[in-house]
Amino acid sequence: MPKEKKNVWEMTLERLDATMDALSIKPGMQKYLRQPRKTTEVSVPIKTDAGTIEIFKGYRVHHNTNRGPAKGGVRYHPDVTLDEIKALAMLMTWKCSLVGLPFGGAKGGVVADPTKLSANELEHITRRYTFEIIDMIGPEKDIPAPDVGTNAQVMAWILDTYSMDKGHAVPGVVTGKPISLGGSQGREDATSRGCVYCILSTLKVMGIDSTDMDVAVQGFGNVGGNAAKILHDLGFKIIAISDVSGCLYNKGGLDPFDIDAHLKKEKTLAGYKEAEILNREDIFSLKCDILLPAALENQITEANAASIKARIVAEGANAPTTPDADAILKENKIFVIPDVLANAGGVTVSYFEWVQGNLSYFWTKREVNLKLRDIMEKAFYETYKFSLENKVDMRQAASMLAVSRVAEATGLRGIYP
Ligand code: NAD
Repeated sequence: MPKEKKNVWEMTLERLDATMDALSIKPGMQKYLRQPRKTTEVSVPIKTDAGTIEIFKGYRVHHNTNRGPAKGGVRYHPDVTLDEIKALAMLMTWKCSLVGLPFGGAKGGVVADPTKLSANELEHITRRYTFEIIDMIGPEKDIPAPDVGTNAQVMAWILDTYSMDKGHAVPGVVTGKPISLGGSQGREDATSRGCVYCILSTLKVMGIDSTDMDVAVQGFGNVGGNAAKILHDLGFKIIAISDVSGCLYNKGGLDPFDIDAHLKKEKTLAGYKEAEILNREDIFSLKCDILLPAALENQITEANAASIKARIVAEGANAPTTPDADAILKENKIFVIPDVLANAGGVTVSYFEWVQGNLSYFWTKREVNLKLRDIMEKAFYETYKFSLENKVDMRQAASMLAVSRVAEATGLRGIYP
């Protein structure tokens, strides 16, 4: 099979196999960790606004639940596949393990384009999808959260559908819900904030004591948009921002708040006056210090990796770099903050939301952000120390630490019955 034809599941397994070999994990345990625990495919029929019937395909996957209930987002995107959801569920297992959260990994998705659906249709899809997977989810079983194409409103619909089925309010069934329904302060920008904490720690270990750096951000959604704003506020210069519609470039710096206002009005980056408009792929060849891929998986490939000039790549997105591209970044001595670390802030504050909900005791935004910083810095320095001690890169270090903890928990629990 030609290298770039591998899908994200095959690439995730390839990386896992290399990690398990490096850890000398026994063949039986290797087989166990490669498999998702539970995989569900459902049909999601709805009546559209036009009165026709449409059927959407939905998935929910639990990868490993030996360290706690399954946790993972729900994605609405036209390119969702079962393999992608399996890969993302597995990544969630490693992510929760790496940052020390008592959760296993899950992911869900619906093959649908939310930009082409009305709010009414999205609500029907969400409610029927929730009903179809209702036996899999619950505050002690599996707690969904937002991902690409979903948001706090979608979580509110899942919460309501699940609660109506149970006969009482169950806010703990989802995280990333609106504050008025028990959501946590700071959840909205937690993934981006966590990513920024990792970037700041990276600069520290590189001996750089300045934010006078040029940043390019791919994707201007929840992760990319908030990261660009936080970095801009800290004094970093955002020189490029791309989304599905194109790429904005200004060597002198862009104002992400202004771009956000433009996007809210125009729904596209086109027409923004304060920047040059480039093709969206051009983001990878621009001269910058930090590149933050925050769109989708498989964006940095063998085809564009060599053109990347950044010193740091902070993976806001899940699996944005293919293994072949990774080898090129390594050869070019680019410091990669891997996805399982760089974007773990979201699930960390989701964990805070779950804890606060269970205790019915809610924290301030400042408390949330301070606790988030503690967890992210601890995970960063543990990974960095491991990478130095074992002479492996950050991705391999993160993967080895995460997988070894899950293997240990799995071994200790044994196999039922
Ligand atoms: P989102 O839907 O809010 O935003 C995605 C952005 O990517 C949009 O701006 C879209 O236009 C852009 N995009 C899509 N295809 C593109 C392309 N080919 N080139 C350039 N831009 C493109 O999604 P999000 O929640 O910000 O998630 C982004 C990534 O971060 C995903 O990989 C997701 O799994 C990961 N992630 C998200 C969270 C979270 O809390 N939202 C947590 C961890 C990881």
